[in-house]
Amino acid sequence: MSRVCRMGIMLVSLALMFGVFPGGGARAQDRLQVVASTSILADIAAGVAGEAAEVVSLMPPGADPHSYTPSPQDLVRLAQADLILIVGANLEESLLKTIRGAAPDLAPVTVSACVNILPFGEVSEAGEPEDHLPAGDVSAIAGQCAAHQDELASAGVLPSPAEGRLGPLYQLDCGGENEADGEHAHGRCDPHVWTDPYNAMLWALMIRDALSERDPANADVYAANAAAIIKALQTLVDEEIAPMLATIPESNRLLVTNHLTFNYYASAFGLKVLGTVIPGASTLAEPSAADIARLIGDIRANGVPAVFTETIANPALAEQIARETGVHFYTLYTGSLSEADGPAATYADYLRYNTRVITAALGGTVN
Ligand SMILES: [Zn+2]
Repeated sequence: MSRVCRMGIMLVSLALMFGVFPGGGARAQDRLQVVASTSILADIAAGVAGEAAEVVSLMPPGADPHSYTPSPQDLVRLAQADLILIVGANLEESLLKTIRGAAPDLAPVTVSACVNILPFGEVSEAGEPEDHLPAGDVSAIAGQCAAHQDELASAGVLPSPAEGRLGPLYQLDCGGENEADGEHAHGRCDPHVWTDPYNAMLWALMIRDALSERDPANADVYAANAAAIIKALQTLVDEEIAPMLATIPESNRLLVTNHLTFNYYASAFGLKVLGTVIPGASTLAEPSAADIARLIGDIRANGVPAVFTETIANPALAEQIARETGVHFYTLYTGSLSEADGPAATYADYLRYNTRVITAALGGTVN
């Protein structure tokens, strides 16, 4: 970024800080300003922040996190932020340069740092992650992750099966950002960690720590809010999500989705992702004719009852595959919440809504 441009952003920040801009209204100057990349992350962060900090989502509801292009307003928000939260694992592949440019002195906090990451596709195909640790104090983050896992265990929450996982994100080089365009251009890690509520609980603890570090006066508030979120999610899983999914007949426990969004969900709740319409971990790739033919063959051979499209991407291809195989298709919320008056306006409702749709589509009983 040029000096002039940086100076411009500084002036904008100073003007906002001192209320120089007319019509700025009563921005709560004493509250921490938090920017979260996606609407799902912002919902969890707002729950931890409560009244003590102000959280905005960079992406509006309905935006595709893989391809989002920031607006000029977003740059101002980023420049003003005290804390920037990202999912990580290359989810925000189209956004990271902008974040670095708009807030060069503020390292974004990766909320998934402690999440045990699944590869996208087969491990053998994607290759083992390089033995590479990020710069900085790795022992600090290792200790933080161990503490979070212990906290959840003592609250009665155990991690999802470790089978097939690559390890905690902070230990991995997911690739992607600097690789040439191609099959693995979007990295080796599956970034859709939030479809497993356990990982959202890890986010809440990471967000609590980041807020408390920057605003120690409200540390008790953040701790209480994070604990409440964990308890509420645990109740949601135990009383609604898991019992509903348990009613799906064994032979129907197969997911075919538009892009690879529900791997963590499947791993947590004993479903199998049979295939995706779009190859890879992002919405940006396009399937070949051979990919589509293989998927249609798999759907027929396994008697898959349903194909799932998503709200953030064009459903045309998934619908075509559903028609060709004679199965029904249903729409899920994937990388974004719904609008405020929609059925998935919060993370809890997102889980509830998707679980109801999946359960009904696969022949289970919705309660
Ligand atoms: Zn995605």
